[in-house]
Formats: sequence, C-alpha cells, structure tokens
Amino acid sequence: MPATVPEGKVPDEDGNAAPTPAPTKVPKSKESPSDDNPTRCLNCSTTNTPLWRRDADGRPLCNACGLFRNLHGVDRPANLNTGVIKVRRPALFPRSSFR
Ligand SMILES: [Zn+2]
Repeated sequence: MPATVPEGKVPDEDGNAAPTPAPTKVPKSKESPSDDNPTRCLNCSTTNTPLWRRDADGRPLCNACGLFRNLHGVDRPANLNTGVIKVRRPALFPRSSFR
C-alpha cells in the first residue's frame, strides 16, 4: 500500500473546491431602500410604519391602513381621521387605585 500523499494534504486541490453558488436573483421586489423615494402609504401618505402592506394592486399601504382594509374591505378613512373615533367605555381600572 504505497502512501503517495502525506497525511493532511489534499492530493488535488483545484477542481475540488466548489465555488459558492451565486444567489439567484429573486423576482420578488423588496421595498426600495432608496431614501430619495421613500415608500409612502397610498391611503394616508405616511412614511412611518412598522410594517408595509400592499393592497390588491400591489400599492403600498401602511400597517394601519392595510389592517383596516383587510378587516373592513374598504380604505381607511384617513381624511376623516380627526380624532372622532368611536369611543368605547372608559377603562374599568382607575389609575388612582393602582399605586
Ligand atoms: Zn396608511
């Protein structure tokens, strides 16, 4: 049994090292990070949202508008958003008792 190659040495280095495959370009378009044209909500024109959503046409919606649309099936009335939100009963726990 002739030991042609010393231990620890790879006999044929070239051709054995497989090049890392280049990542295939995904067609899925991410939100463009260019600050020149920030993503703006189609409905309320905000640019600050924790999560961008899209409507059926792929147009950007902010998290609130996207959720509202999913829930109600209509656009969030951003122009009516003047604080006249349906007021629910006040909290049952008065703050003064929690000290
Ligand atoms: Zn919005």
